[in-house]
Amino acid sequence: MRKRPLFVLAGGVVVLAMALAAHSLDRWADPGAGYETPDLGPLAPGEVRWGNKGYIEYLVGDLPLILSAPHGGTLSPHEIPNRTRGYGIGDAHTEELTRLVADALRDLTGRPPHMVISRLARRKLDPNREPVEAANGDPIAEQAWLEYHGFIDVAKQQVTESWGAGLYLDIHGHGHRTPWIELGYLLVTKVLNSSDRKLDNPWIRSRMSLRALAASTSAPLSELVRGSTSLGAMLERRGYRTVPSPGDPGPGRADYFNGGYSTLRHGSYHDGTVSSIQLEHPTRGVLDTEDNRQRYARQLAGILVEYMEIHYGFTLSRAGTPNAGTRVR
Ligand SMILES: [Zn+2]
Repeated sequence: MRKRPLFVLAGGVVVLAMALAAHSLDRWADPGAGYETPDLGPLAPGEVRWGNKGYIEYLVGDLPLILSAPHGGTLSPHEIPNRTRGYGIGDAHTEELTRLVADALRDLTGRPPHMVISRLARRKLDPNREPVEAANGDPIAEQAWLEYHGFIDVAKQQVTESWGAGLYLDIHGHGHRTPWIELGYLLVTKVLNSSDRKLDNPWIRSRMSLRALAASTSAPLSELVRGSTSLGAMLERRGYRTVPSPGDPGPGRADYFNGGYSTLRHGSYHDGTVSSIQLEHPTRGVLDTEDNRQRYARQLAGILVEYMEIHYGFTLSRAGTPNAGTRVR
């Protein structure tokens, strides 16, 4: 496997120093501000680019879809000390699941999605955190963090240039008591537990992870988040209990993840036309066995093709013809 360095480390350290001074997960500050999208040269769909020592992997895509798996990695190199702050237990089998979703999308459409994977164990790097908590001050982990988010920035640039808009999905696994799928739109439990009328307030519409998508449609936000064409509804119809969805419009009193650093940074909350959703999967029925991961990956791929057609107007299914996807510029 070919591995080449992604960044000149010295440049990254300057950027990271600025970031350490400026950023925390503050909804009002754009966590992506100050980072330049790296120049990787010409990219070919299906090609894999590697970060330093293969810790971060980027599959170059050709669809308006970007997948990432921050917490499924298992590499535990001695050169990176274990993190001493934040949470260190990973999301088992989410790296495998994300690869299966990418494979299923390629089978359906003839094209790969963009996919970025941290192969490092979470106790070495947590890419879904601001850099201080993510890398714990270790320069090798900091470089991997920069590469992870740099690759997603490159993927967003590709999607924006080729398609005009797209969707970024951050793939996780949760250990909450209720074995449902939790979709994170950066909307807190209190907002999701309220009525559609409150959810449809224009202020909320402009402060969530699908901001750009919501701005492109006349559909109320409640429809996008838990109506019949929402991602939650599509999962629910295929037998996967999901919140928010028509059947479970809000988390109620249950524990719920509403989206982390990457969902905020790489969606359209602050700017851009790539929107984001965090997907938190239960172990039971989704992540626990190879069969369940395969089945879910195929279902999710089909759902994403349908979702992109309904909400973005992109026909991605090859319907018997290779490369029949329709691009808009
Ligand atoms: Zn996670």
